[in-house]
Amino acid sequence: NSGLRKSFMLNTFCSKRNVGSSAWKALPERVKIVEVGPRDGLQNEKTVVPTEVKIHLIDMLSEAGLPVIEATSFVSPKWVPQMADQVEVMKGIRRRPGVAYPVLTPNLKGFQEAVKAGAAEVAIFGAASELFSKKNINCSVEESLQRFEEVTKAAKEAGVPVRGYVSCVLGCPYEGKVSPDKVAQVAKRLYSMGCYEISLGDTTGVGTPGGMTEMLEVVSREVPVTALAVHCHDTYGQALANILIALQMGVSVVDSSVAGLGGCPYAQGASGNVATEDVVYMLHGLGIQTGVDLTKVMDAGAFICRSLNRKTSSKVAQASCKL
Ligand SMILES: [Zn+2]
Repeated sequence: NSGLRKSFMLNTFCSKRNVGSSAWKALPERVKIVEVGPRDGLQNEKTVVPTEVKIHLIDMLSEAGLPVIEATSFVSPKWVPQMADQVEVMKGIRRRPGVAYPVLTPNLKGFQEAVKAGAAEVAIFGAASELFSKKNINCSVEESLQRFEEVTKAAKEAGVPVRGYVSCVLGCPYEGKVSPDKVAQVAKRLYSMGCYEISLGDTTGVGTPGGMTEMLEVVSREVPVTALAVHCHDTYGQALANILIALQMGVSVVDSSVAGLGGCPYAQGASGNVATEDVVYMLHGLGIQTGVDLTKVMDAGAFICRSLNRKTSSKVAQASCKL
């Protein structure tokens, strides 16, 4: 029975926390995983995914115990055809009590449509790089922040929590190096606008634990580390190392994408988002609680990879398949 064997193997590698080990002292006891596969992941997949597949994926992820699942995006279907079914997705998912289903809302119009469709939490997406902002959302960083202020103001009035993203925190595909001060500045603005959490995105995956340390040191002077999340891409194979360093520096919220969905829009065939399976495997190996059932996340990953006819980017899923 390969299923039984799989769960046996997974359990074997999950150790209990050894409180005496000094290397683990700084690590959090519990980490919140923010699953971004259905939005950030699928948005970068070329095949347009049928609505019922998206709904089933989100339901499987809810069942797996993920506390936050980014469900869709309220952008114009002209810009992002993959997310054109946002209302149907929001109406179709089976909401599990205690699970948050934030949606991306780039402007006030998107926010209003999201709330109408039943969204109880939203996210806004800023950049730490001027050129990236220009190319991606066609405005300067400052202009984007002003647009977000309208969203956060409306959200406050409606009692809707807002999550803020900062992209390109460790490098930009157009500008190259990005200064930690610029990241801190944007993160601080989003935080003072009322974002309860700021997710720091290494959008191109170029960051190393060295860059992550430097950036977090600077950003955590402006925003409390308890309000920071990391969003690592594995393009250069650095994601788990970057996450581990962030945990040691007090971050306890980690974004990831089931099966590593998403790929990399800047490098054909390269990996994008770090896979949820791999993050969960590492965290459980460190004795850190997540509330996530790894076997069920792997089932969700297998389901979406079958539907997309693509290979999983999760190393854990690849390894377990061969057992
Ligand atoms: Zn991402």
